[in-house]
Amino acid sequence: MQQEEIVIVGTGSTGDGYKMAKRVGHTIEKIRGSLVPLTSDNNVCKQMQGLSLRNVKIEIKDVEKNRKIYDDFGEMLFTHFGVSGPTILSGSAHLLRYKNIDKLLKEKKIVLSIDLKPALSEEELDRRILRDFEEFKNKEFKNGLNKLLPKKMIDVIIHMSKINPYKKINEITKEERINLIKILKKFEIVINGFRPVEEAIVTAGGISTKEINPKTMESKLIKGLYFAGEVIDVDAYTGGFNLQIAYSTGYTAGLEIGK
Ligand SMILES: Cc1cc2nc3c(=O)[nH]c(=O)nc-3n(C[C@H](O)[C@H](O)[C@H](O)COP(=O)(O)OP(=O)(O)OC[C@H]3O[C@@H](n4cnc5c(N)ncnc54)[C@H](O)[C@@H]3O)c2cc1C
Repeated sequence: MQQEEIVIVGTGSTGDGYKMAKRVGHTIEKIRGSLVPLTSDNNVCKQMQGLSLRNVKIEIKDVEKNRKIYDDFGEMLFTHFGVSGPTILSGSAHLLRYKNIDKLLKEKKIVLSIDLKPALSEEELDRRILRDFEEFKNKEFKNGLNKLLPKKMIDVIIHMSKINPYKKINEITKEERINLIKILKKFEIVINGFRPVEEAIVTAGGISTKEINPKTMESKLIKGLYFAGEVIDVDAYTGGFNLQIAYSTGYTAGLEIGK
């Protein structure tokens, strides 16, 4: 028997739907896991694993073209392999559709930039840090960031700032402080890939929507054949939208079949 060309993915189904649809002439748009965590070989992710950040602004960019691919505001999470959480999962959906993404990931051209203090401008953040530094002026730098940052992040930020952790806070120069602010506003991590499809929440790709009547969900190629749900080339952000797609398309197809 001839080998099927379709890659079987596993977000709940066996991939049979794609094979069956292809066999009867439907086009299957490239199948990939979407809403999936992102990987990085930057050790800081591992160092901060389990740390969940709230109210941060993230930007995923192509540094070769200096182009923003996705930005968002909300929650994200550091893990032993890289990053995850709602903003990252949504970003992955845009990233996987970005031109030449596999090549760019390999070449380390995709960067996640996190603004850890998006509510404050650089000047406001400087004033905030100065207040903390005044309070802790006789302490060592390593003990002066407790009010500003989550515990798991402090060593990482200190290392990135290149400020001696044992330096007295009242000896920190303006230049060192400005550099610290830049890191807090632009905490960058190179992204090198996607986690496997088993960890994806939804499958992007599938039966081409051009070949399905959206009013009835009937195949435009085969009379009496209907499609619903994730097998179709539709996917959305997390938050109930994918379930809604499954319910709505299933409901529509069911109504038509019943007529
Ligand atoms: C961990 C996780 C979290 C998610 N969270 C959310 C969320 O918060 N919000 C959201 O909107 N979406 C979420 N999703 C996505 C959502 O669950 C799917 O988009 C939705 O379930 C798709 O529905 P479906 O009926 O098309 O496919 P499925 O739910 O995959 O159902 C397909 C069914 O067909 C059966 N089947 C497959 N092949 C055959 C065969 N040959 N013969 C008979 N039966 C077969 C399978 O066993 C399965 O029961 C999540 C998915 C995952 C994996």
